[in-house]
Amino acid sequence: EAKLSGKNQRARFTHALRTAANRRLDVEEDLRAALGDDELRVHYQPIVDLRDGAVIAAEALVRWQHPVRGLLAPVEFIDVAEQSDLIADLGEWVLREAGACLARWQREGQEVRTPALVAVVPPPHRLAVSVNASVRQVSSGRLRRSVEAVLADNGLLPGELHIEITETQFMSAAPAIQREMAALSDLGVGLSLDDFGTGYSSLAYLKRLPFNCVKLDRSYVSGIGVNPGDEALVDAVLALAGSLGLHTVAEGVETPAQERYLRERGCGYAQGYLYSPPVLGTRPPERAS
Ligand code: C2E
Ligand code: MG
Ligand code: MG
Ligand code: MG
Repeated sequence: EAKLSGKNQRARFTHALRTAANRRLDVEEDLRAALGDDELRVHYQPIVDLRDGAVIAAEALVRWQHPVRGLLAPVEFIDVAEQSDLIADLGEWVLREAGACLARWQREGQEVRTPALVAVVPPPHRLAVSVNASVRQVSSGRLRRSVEAVLADNGLLPGELHIEITETQFMSAAPAIQREMAALSDLGVGLSLDDFGTGYSSLAYLKRLPFNCVKLDRSYVSGIGVNPGDEALVDAVLALAGSLGLHTVAEGVETPAQERYLRERGCGYAQGYLYSPPVLGTRPPERAS
């Protein structure tokens, strides 16, 4: 096979880059339109208390009901959103939607019905909702303002709202971010460090930032009973969180054996297909006027 000349290789490379960039711009444009056209949806995955199996909260997970491509998971579009200010608009939309949905559950009671679980959470028992946020929302100061608005508009207690930020986004905890996180914490909302175990500087950030919960990444949970290295990390994280007085949520719990292991080591909460996949939230009914 003939080798490409240097010039041809360069041309090809540039072409590939340009197509990737164009594709990103296409997705970005479509996603921006989707926000306006009401194509985004929020699914909710229950978070259970490992002591008694009670549902105590639900994580809000965004989906894109694409007119042509069908229901898209965040992996298809969240990176593109993260690379622009779109993530702030998307995140704010999800937060508002989740706040309104939670208020409705609290008014009317929420039936959680899945193959593994049927639970009716009647009022006045109050669930919490956990919403993912990008560190870009934090540093802009917009997150704090939208959190305040969502709490006020829906009559929610601050502790009923949790904000999750992934560990890998905290490679630099700039002073502005530390200040904003402190302000969020002062509002009384819960702050969870998401995907714990996937970054590198975990200990320093846990000490410097006001998180009150760590979410143990699914990659380690899936190693329980399989990979002693993963088990060692799970044990270490649970011990550390315990000694720092942090709540712990295990992600991606799929088997009773994983559940048992986690419960025995003092993990407080869990979510995963063992309990329920994320399910479409009920939207506030359109009121006929
Ligand atoms: P995450 O916050 O770590 O969410 C948990 C992911 O694990 C979800 O994927 C969920 O569907 C999946 N999952 C839960 N239980 C199981 C299980 O037992 N087995 C397996 N295999 N998977 C399980 P999803 O919904 O595809 O979301 C992916 C990521 O996208 C989220 O990871 C989160 O980082 C991000 N994301 C989702 N919604 C938003 C949002 O509104 N804003 C931002 N900034 N990011 C979001
Ligand atoms: Mg999350
Ligand atoms: Mg996570
Ligand atoms: Mg994860």
